[in-house]
Amino acid sequence: MATTKPAPPARSLSRRSLLVRGASLVGALGVSACRKAPSFCDDVSTLSPDQRNTRTTLGYEDSSDQPGKNCAKCSQYLEPPRMDQCGTCKVLPGSVHPNGYCRAFTPKA
Ligand code: SF4
Repeated sequence: MATTKPAPPARSLSRRSLLVRGASLVGALGVSACRKAPSFCDDVSTLSPDQRNTRTTLGYEDSSDQPGKNCAKCSQYLEPPRMDQCGTCKVLPGSVHPNGYCRAFTPKA
Protein backbone atom coordinates (compact mmCIF):
# COMPACT_ATOMS: atom_id res chain seq x y z
CA MET A 1 0.00 0.00 0.00
CA ALA A 2 1.48 3.24 -1.12
CA THR A 3 1.41 6.16 1.23
CA THR A 4 1.16 9.65 -0.04
CA LYS A 5 3.02 12.40 1.59
CA PRO A 6 0.83 15.22 2.71
CA ALA A 7 1.36 18.38 0.73
CA PRO A 8 3.39 21.03 2.54
CA PRO A 9 1.28 23.82 3.93
CA ALA A 10 0.88 26.60 1.47
CA ARG A 11 3.00 29.56 2.39
CA SER A 12 0.61 32.26 3.17
CA LEU A 13 1.00 35.74 4.41
CA SER A 14 -1.48 36.83 6.94
CA ARG A 15 -3.04 40.22 6.72
CA ARG A 16 -1.17 41.22 9.86
CA SER A 17 2.13 40.05 8.40
CA LEU A 18 1.53 42.07 5.24
CA LEU A 19 0.68 45.17 7.25
CA VAL A 20 3.80 44.84 9.39
CA ARG A 21 6.04 44.31 6.35
CA GLY A 22 4.42 47.20 4.52
CA ALA A 23 4.82 49.53 7.47
CA SER A 24 8.49 48.54 7.81
CA LEU A 25 9.12 49.26 4.14
CA VAL A 26 7.37 52.62 4.27
CA GLY A 27 9.27 53.48 7.44
CA ALA A 28 12.61 52.57 5.93
CA LEU A 29 11.93 54.61 2.82
CA GLY A 30 10.73 57.54 4.87
CA VAL A 31 13.78 57.51 7.11
CA SER A 32 16.17 57.35 4.18
CA ALA A 33 14.37 60.24 2.47
CA CYS A 34 14.41 62.33 5.63
CA ARG A 35 18.12 61.76 6.21
CA LYS A 36 19.13 63.07 2.83
CA ALA A 37 20.39 66.64 2.98
CA PRO A 38 19.14 69.14 0.42
CA SER A 39 21.22 69.47 -2.75
CA PHE A 40 21.64 73.22 -2.47
CA CYS A 41 20.31 76.16 -0.49
CA ASP A 42 21.48 79.07 -2.56
CA ASP A 43 18.23 80.32 -4.08
CA VAL A 44 18.21 84.07 -3.50
CA SER A 45 15.38 84.85 -5.92
CA THR A 46 13.01 85.98 -3.16
CA LEU A 47 15.57 88.14 -1.34
CA SER A 48 15.97 91.89 -1.61
CA PRO A 49 19.20 93.36 -2.98
CA ASP A 50 20.26 94.28 0.58
CA GLN A 51 19.67 90.72 1.77
CA ARG A 52 21.64 89.33 -1.15
CA ASN A 53 24.41 91.78 -0.34
CA THR A 54 24.52 90.52 3.25
CA ARG A 55 25.00 86.96 2.00
CA THR A 56 27.80 88.11 -0.25
CA THR A 57 29.43 90.25 2.45
CA LEU A 58 29.44 87.36 4.89
CA GLY A 59 30.84 85.09 2.21
CA TYR A 60 28.16 82.45 2.48
CA GLU A 61 28.88 79.20 0.64
CA ASP A 62 26.67 76.11 0.49
CA SER A 63 29.68 73.90 1.16
CA SER A 64 32.13 74.78 3.91
CA ASP A 65 35.85 74.65 3.18
CA GLN A 66 36.63 75.23 6.87
CA PRO A 67 37.39 71.95 8.66
CA GLY A 68 35.00 71.37 11.54
CA LYS A 69 33.00 74.50 10.81
CA ASN A 70 29.64 74.43 9.10
CA CYS A 71 26.13 75.74 9.64
CA ALA A 72 24.94 72.62 11.44
CA LYS A 73 27.65 73.26 14.07
CA CYS A 74 26.91 76.98 14.33
CA SER A 75 24.87 78.54 17.13
CA GLN A 76 23.13 80.79 14.59
CA TYR A 77 21.70 77.85 12.64
CA LEU A 78 18.00 77.07 12.80
CA GLU A 79 17.20 73.52 11.74
CA PRO A 80 14.44 72.89 9.20
CA PRO A 81 11.41 70.74 10.06
CA ARG A 82 12.77 67.96 7.85
CA MET A 83 16.40 67.02 7.18
CA ASP A 84 15.89 67.18 3.41
CA GLN A 85 15.01 70.88 3.62
CA CYS A 86 17.25 73.92 3.91
CA GLY A 87 17.70 75.53 7.29
CA THR A 88 17.71 79.20 8.16
CA CYS A 89 20.04 81.43 10.09
CA LYS A 90 19.63 84.12 12.74
CA VAL A 91 22.02 86.49 10.95
CA LEU A 92 22.08 85.46 7.29
CA PRO A 93 18.95 86.09 5.20
CA GLY A 94 17.54 83.26 3.11
CA SER A 95 18.08 79.56 3.30
CA VAL A 96 21.28 77.90 4.43
CA HIS A 97 22.67 74.43 3.93
CA PRO A 98 23.68 72.39 7.00
CA ASN A 99 27.10 71.97 5.36
CA GLY A 100 27.33 75.68 4.50
CA TYR A 101 29.54 78.32 6.04
CA CYS A 102 29.95 82.07 6.37
CA ARG A 103 32.27 84.43 8.24
CA ALA A 104 29.69 84.89 11.05
CA PHE A 105 30.20 81.27 12.12
CA THR A 106 29.88 80.93 15.89
CA PRO A 107 30.43 77.47 17.31
CA LYS A 108 27.69 75.91 19.40
CA ALA A 109 28.49 75.97 23.10
S1 SF4 B 1 26.10 82.39 10.81
FE1 SF4 B 1 26.97 81.63 8.91
S2 SF4 B 1 27.88 79.64 9.50
FE2 SF4 B 1 26.41 80.21 11.09
S3 SF4 B 1 24.48 79.24 10.48
FE3 SF4 B 1 24.46 81.34 9.68
S4 SF4 B 1 25.23 81.08 7.58
FE4 SF4 B 1 25.82 79.23 8.69
